[in-house]
Amino acid sequence: MIPVTTFAGKTVALFGLGNSGLDSARALIAGGAKVVVYDDEPASVLAAGAKNFDVVDLRKADWSQFAALVLAPGVPLTHPKPHWTVTMAGAAGVEVIGDIELFCRERAAHGAGCPLVAITGTNGKSTTTALTAHLLRAAGRDVQMGGNIGVPMLSLAPFAPGRPYVAEVSSYQIDLAPSLRATAGILLNVSEDHLDRHGTMENYAAVKALLPAKVEQGGVAIIGVDDRWGRDAADRIERAGRTVMRVSVAGTLRDGLYADGTRIMRSEAGKAHPIAQLAGIGSLRGIHNAQNAACAIAAAQALGLTPQQIQQGLMSFPGLAHRMEQIGRQKTANGATLFVNDSKATNADSAARALASYQDIFWILGGKPKTGGIATLADYFPKVRKAYLIGEAAADFAKTLDGKVAYEMSGTLDQAVPAAARDAAASGLKEPVVLLSPACASFDQYRNFEIRGAAFRKLVEALPGIALLAH
Ligand code: ADP
Repeated sequence: MIPVTTFAGKTVALFGLGNSGLDSARALIAGGAKVVVYDDEPASVLAAGAKNFDVVDLRKADWSQFAALVLAPGVPLTHPKPHWTVTMAGAAGVEVIGDIELFCRERAAHGAGCPLVAITGTNGKSTTTALTAHLLRAAGRDVQMGGNIGVPMLSLAPFAPGRPYVAEVSSYQIDLAPSLRATAGILLNVSEDHLDRHGTMENYAAVKALLPAKVEQGGVAIIGVDDRWGRDAADRIERAGRTVMRVSVAGTLRDGLYADGTRIMRSEAGKAHPIAQLAGIGSLRGIHNAQNAACAIAAAQALGLTPQQIQQGLMSFPGLAHRMEQIGRQKTANGATLFVNDSKATNADSAARALASYQDIFWILGGKPKTGGIATLADYFPKVRKAYLIGEAAADFAKTLDGKVAYEMSGTLDQAVPAAARDAAASGLKEPVVLLSPACASFDQYRNFEIRGAAFRKLVEALPGIALLAH
């Protein structure tokens, strides 16, 4: 744990008692603050009380005694409307911050020699965060990784000379971290998402761009420039005098990192040379992963890794579970079927990445549908040999596929997996791919996408003659 000493002797109100909330409370207390906690959920309040936290109904509290309100990132700050604690804090002139802000202030006070790579973007945050940490670890650095990826930053190991930290930061967390100053600040991409929280696209993009805009002195802003929000941010941040490293997987760049097929090129004043090769790295397949990899590579270079160290790290990256995760291969008469778990693809846009990354697909999809369905995926239908429909969305998806893609109504994963395996084996294709990329939420049949992905894995493992791939 990283004790937060910057509020020593002060009283802090903390709202939102999920994992990161309680970790923040512990870190503040360890650093010498008095912390009062609350939540709208009675069960969370009871649980916190049982763990001896000081529970105070903040509606009735005297807000003039609080030095800050520490808010869990999921609690609305501005949209659709400020949470009542935010309104009360505003009225009392109390600042509203999150756990990443506590981490950043502590780093400024006691961890100045510890590099911080902070990563945001609409898609690819977790992959890029895990890959960046992996590259640093593979090069022998004593790296700590946390944030939105699941481990609260304050529960990481304390600052030690030179120890690098890699943080996945959501737009919600940026809103709550005014003094976030990264050594390398990555903005991967910006596309429509979370408008419920940010109101407009302009607002959302502006919040995201704060992360690379505020890199520390001598730091680098690493920005994906394949969307107009990223391009605008890169130009603006450069004009403001920061070092900007542009990243593109859509074309060449005069200055920056770009993808040339599976090679990542570094270009300076129009002169380009290869710095990494992604061919054959299963966990980094697809153009979207080239974007993630190029950004991670830029951060690794900024922290002093050599191209050799980076290439070695890339080759041993296991990838993240449920994101185009290669589970195993089953030998067939003409080759082998590859089984891929992309359960994290809970919308059509995500599923598009997987469909773009493979040929000859036996596609398992469905679940709890999202608006728009799968009509936007029509360009990929010619690559789909057959579809296996599960969950609530099955009937609707069947209508979209009708006449374009062969399909069967499997209903459940345990029907779909053996059927897809059988058809793939019988197809005579060299490397058919059985792909779970549902383009739907899981809630109709599974509590979350992780449990859905685990169910897929189990079914694949039970197939005869399956050779599992190490994860
Ligand atoms: P996040 O943490 O931002 O949700 P993940 O790394 O968990 O992102 O990836 C989630 C899904 O998003 C992947 O399964 C893939 O479909 C898609 N994805 C990953 N990286 C990118 C990218 N750079 N651009 C677009 N889509 C991506």
